Amino acid sequence: MNYHKYFPVDVINGPGTRATLFVSGCEHQCRGCYNQSTWDPRSGHLFDKQMEDQIIKDLTDSRIKRRGLSLSGGDPLFPANLGAIKQLLQRVREEAPSKDVWLWTGYTLAELTSEQQALLPLIDVLVDGKFEQSLADPSLSFRGSSNQVIHQLHPQG
Ligand code: SF4
Repeated sequence: MNYHKYFPVDVINGPGTRATLFVSGCEHQCRGCYNQSTWDPRSGHLFDKQMEDQIIKDLTDSRIKRRGLSLSGGDPLFPANLGAIKQLLQRVREEAPSKDVWLWTGYTLAELTSEQQALLPLIDVLVDGKFEQSLADPSLSFRGSSNQVIHQLHPQG
């Protein structure tokens, strides 16, 4: 998996103070996409062990407390990203179990394949669905258009 940007401290993408990773790779081609440069899974930088370690370190940092991790893109559930996302989220559950995980995907919950569904136990809040320009609403919290749904998958999130 590749990623485009990592923000070790972020107060925009999700509730509270968070660490946020924008991954590469997306097949949805939404009209009006704010982040077209992330569509190509080969774009950006390699998400390696060092980056994974950095995220865990930031989530367990006692000086700047983060509420959790946000994963966006691109699409973290792009098929080629699933292995790296699963490995990262398993580490978050084991090494930073009090932190919540929010994940934004262009697939709807109902569209997820069994491989994508296998990650759901590791995600607290899933924000799903393509960005629909005709339903765009800047007043919405944590989503760009009103068709997108914030699914609370686990009580922690
Ligand atoms: S899912 Fe997100 S990144 Fe992918 S095309 Fe749609 S708006 Fe852009």
